[in-house]
Amino acid sequence: MTKIIIKTEKLCKTFSSGGIQQHVLKNLDISLFEGDFTIIMGSSGSGKSTLLYAMSGMDKPTLGEIDFAGKSLSQLNNDQLAVFRRNNCGFVFQQIYLLDNMSVLDNVLASGLLVNKKKSELVQKAKELLMQVGINDNAWSKFPTQLSGGEAQRVGIVRALINNPRIVFADEPTGALNSASSESVLDVLTNVNQNGQSLVMVTHDMKTALRGNRILYLRDGVICGDLQLGGYSEQNNLERHEKLQHFLAEMG
Ligand code: ADP
Ligand code: MG
Repeated sequence: MTKIIIKTEKLCKTFSSGGIQQHVLKNLDISLFEGDFTIIMGSSGSGKSTLLYAMSGMDKPTLGEIDFAGKSLSQLNNDQLAVFRRNNCGFVFQQIYLLDNMSVLDNVLASGLLVNKKKSELVQKAKELLMQVGINDNAWSKFPTQLSGGEAQRVGIVRALINNPRIVFADEPTGALNSASSESVLDVLTNVNQNGQSLVMVTHDMKTALRGNRILYLRDGVICGDLQLGGYSEQNNLERHEKLQHFLAEMG
């Protein structure tokens, strides 16, 4: 049986401003499974990023529970939550958010050092991961502004992986990249998943979504579609493409 890694129960997120309440996530009961590459789709403003922030412990829900591999996140105080998040969750942002005044290698190490690892081991691991995503030693001392968008995002992925998280969240990671860079970033993420790490990625691009094995469709803060797509491979993609096309047509 597949193990559940994250389970939300009646998850709600409400934003208030100027006396007006906006219910962005509405009573969501979602189970995410270990080893899955889950895709979250839905139109702009439907609550995808809000959901990702809540499930990864970056932002607290207004109501409801999040159980992360048997641990209830609402039981943790802010410090415990920060530690828990660093040890278990990686996060990749559309805007990448590398620190411009630090080298590629230091950007990666900065996340790792927060977790009290030995620096020598960490440097070794950072270099191995950078090599795996095609960032070779001649780029390690460069600054983020000297990288292409695709290279920068691959560094962003390495930063998310440095603490060997059980799950990696990616919010439109290719949203700001050209198509060649997008492919290289998606290949890296696909590889991460094929090595056993769980992934949750937000996208509104169908080709990007085809990298996942399950699609959740969010509309106005409610999950209105849940498609089992099967795992990605270049051979079975035509069939999966048709299945996804049909699903998205139904979602409107
Ligand atoms: P998506 O990622 O699907 O485009 P978001 O989750 O970013 O949607 O946003 C969903 C809704 O929640 C939007 O209407 C947005 O304006 C609102 N929202 C998101 N974050 C905040 C916030 N920090 N404060 C107030 N409103 C927010
Ligand atoms: Mg968003």
